[in-house]
Amino acid sequence: MILLSLATYYNYAINLIMSHLARVALIAVLSLAFVLSAEPGRGRVAIADARLPPEDQPSPTASPYPTVPVVPPTPTPVRVPISARVPILMYHYISTPPPGADRYRIDLSVTPQDFERQLQHLASNGYTTISLYELYAHLTLGRSLPPRPVVLTFDDGYRDHYEHAFPLLKKYGMRGTFFITTDFINFGNPNHLTWEMVKEMSAAGMDIESHARTHRDLRNRDFQFLVWEILGPIEQITAHTGKRPRFFCYPSGRYDQAVIRMLRSVQTWAAVTTEHGATHTLANAITWRRLRVHGRATLEQFAKMLASAGGT
Ligand SMILES: [Zn+2]
Repeated sequence: MILLSLATYYNYAINLIMSHLARVALIAVLSLAFVLSAEPGRGRVAIADARLPPEDQPSPTASPYPTVPVVPPTPTPVRVPISARVPILMYHYISTPPPGADRYRIDLSVTPQDFERQLQHLASNGYTTISLYELYAHLTLGRSLPPRPVVLTFDDGYRDHYEHAFPLLKKYGMRGTFFITTDFINFGNPNHLTWEMVKEMSAAGMDIESHARTHRDLRNRDFQFLVWEILGPIEQITAHTGKRPRFFCYPSGRYDQAVIRMLRSVQTWAAVTTEHGATHTLANAITWRRLRVHGRATLEQFAKMLASAGGT
């Protein structure tokens, strides 16, 4: 009876221990399965490793991706100049002043005859007319310029630019930059260009750039006024010519820091003033200087001014 009781107790104890061990083993198996399922990559590697002979086992540090050789950068072969000495000529009227014109109007007016003689001088002395885009690309990208480069600019969008300057530029295979004031055109001022003329000149290779909307003094103005005067003409010229202007000409050469900030915010590459000079850099691109061609200037004076400013 005692033996039977002992045997029963023994069996009971064995069962208790075995069921405890089974639970521990089950927990251990489940834990391992959880770890393997939580790190699938590790689990696969472990299984794959087990199948590979020792010599084919991947190195623990090997990358699963192909390696790209590192090539040291080579220096750019383009030499970008610090500055360029290029005369940017400034014209206004290309016409004979009307009778009774005051001295300002006379000084701003180059007759078509004088203008043609000036173009002939440029052609016979090895000058090449370039655009402001070419000058800018020279300073930013190191693009080479032709010998004796010169930029011809015409302010205010006068009708005589179409009637006199444009045909003469075409005759000599030359290029001009026309700074137009868009409201003079929008309101049909007969002394100024029309959008049809502007479009024709642009299509013929002339550059149409902005000289603001109304030609008013831009200094001491608020933000909205500057948006109206500076962004508006950019949109209008783009709409009429299909070419987005990048250059600006300050009305009467006047500007302040707010004007410069606005020009930069609308990605203007350079702006020209009425100040005298011919050395251009990227640092002074927002105030590039020009050479004024005075009405009644002799060809000798014209040639002398160019020669003193020429050469890059
Ligand atoms: Zn002007």
